[in-house]
Amino acid sequence: MTVVDVQQDLLVELGLGSRATAPAMREAAPLRIAMLAPPWISVPPPGYGGIEAVVALLTRELVRRGHDVTLFAAPGSHSEAVVHPLLAAPHPEAIERSLYEVDHVARAFAAIEHAGRHGRPYDVIHDHCGFTAFAMADRIAVPVVHTLHGPFTTDTCAFYAHHAGKAHVVAISHAQRALAPAELPIVAVVPNPIDAADWPLVSAKDDYLLWIGRMTAEKGPHRAIEVARRAGMRLVLAGPVQPGQETFYEREVLPYLDGERAIHVGEVTGQRKVDLFAHARALLMPIRWPEPFGMVMLEAMVCGTPVLAFAEGAACEIVMPEVTGFLVTNEEEMARAVSCTGAIDPRRCRAWTIERCDARAVALGYEQVYRGAARVDADRAVLAAAAI
Ligand code: UDP
Repeated sequence: MTVVDVQQDLLVELGLGSRATAPAMREAAPLRIAMLAPPWISVPPPGYGGIEAVVALLTRELVRRGHDVTLFAAPGSHSEAVVHPLLAAPHPEAIERSLYEVDHVARAFAAIEHAGRHGRPYDVIHDHCGFTAFAMADRIAVPVVHTLHGPFTTDTCAFYAHHAGKAHVVAISHAQRALAPAELPIVAVVPNPIDAADWPLVSAKDDYLLWIGRMTAEKGPHRAIEVARRAGMRLVLAGPVQPGQETFYEREVLPYLDGERAIHVGEVTGQRKVDLFAHARALLMPIRWPEPFGMVMLEAMVCGTPVLAFAEGAACEIVMPEVTGFLVTNEEEMARAVSCTGAIDPRRCRAWTIERCDARAVALGYEQVYRGAARVDADRAVLAAAAI
C-alpha cells in the first residue's frame, strides 16, 4: 500500500490540476475545512469508535498544519479545531438510524451555509458520516469530499452508483476501491492515520493473544477463541457487546470464556487499552469479510505487536508478512503462526507502520484532495455560469 495514492489520471479527467480559481486554493494557503463527523459517538471516541478515531487524528494534524478546521460532531467532542456539536446528545445505541443522521447533516449544512452568507465561507466539507451528506452533496455550494468508511454491499453499491459525481470520493484501501461500482469515480486512496506519539513501542511481550473489536461473526471473536485454544495461549477479548450482538455473543463467545485462558474484559479505553495492545504477543484478526481497513491492526503494529490476520480485504495491504505479522487462511494456520511471532522485530514493525500511515502523510494526502476538489467545483461553477 502506498502511503497516499491520489489518482492523477482521474484528477486530470475530472479537471483537477487546472488553473486555481480562488486564492485559498493556492498550494500554501490555509484552507477553511468543515470536518463532518458522524452523530453517534463523540470525537475522540471514549472507547470503541474507528471512524471517530480517524477524524480525531486527521483533524488534529490539519490544525497543526495551519488550517482553519471546524469539527461538526456529536456533543462531548473535543479537539484542537473549533468544535460545533449539532444534536443534544450522542447516539451510540442508534448507529445508522436515519433520524439522527439526517438531523445532524441538515444542521451542519445550515451552519455551513450560514457561515458562507456571513463572510466566512468554507473551502471544503470533509464528510465521514454515512450516506445523507453524500446523497445531498450537490445541494450545497461547498465542495464535498466523502471518505468511504464502510464496505460495498449490494445496497451501498446501488446507492453510490446512483449518486456518483455529487462528491469527491476517497477510499481507505485499495481492497475497498476494487469493490466499488464502476460508476463511482474514486479520486484517491488515503489510508487511515496513526500518530506514534499516542502509542509506546514495547519489545518484551506478555503471554497472551489479543482480539479487540465488535462482537460480530465477521470480526471473528469465536475464531480467535479457537486459535488461542489450538495454540495453547491465553486470550484476552476486548470490546463492547453492542445492541443486536447479544445473541451471537451468548451463543458463540460466552460459553467458551473460562475466566482464565479466555477472558472478555468488555470495552476498553485509555491507558488500559494502550497497554493491552502494547504487551500482547500478537493481535488476532480472524476476519471473514472484505474489511475496508481495520484501525486495530495499525494500533497493534505501531506498538511493535505483530498482527495475525486472515488474508481478507485491507488486511492484505496493512500486514506486511514477516515484518508486521503474518497472513494466513484458517484457524489452524493462525495457531501455528503464533509460534513465529518471535521473528517479528518490534522496532521494524513500528517503523513500517509509521512510514505507511503516519498522520502527517495522511493529512498531506487529504490536503491535495481538498484543493483538487475545490478547483474542480470552482471550474464547474464557471462553466455553468458561462452556459446561462
Ligand atoms: N476500540 C476501543 N475499545 C474497545 C474496542 C475497540 O477503543 O473496547 C477501538 C479500537 O481501538 C479502534 C476502533 O475502536 O480504534 C475500532 O476500529 P476498527 O477500524 O478496527 O473497527 P470497526 O470500525 O470496523 O469496528
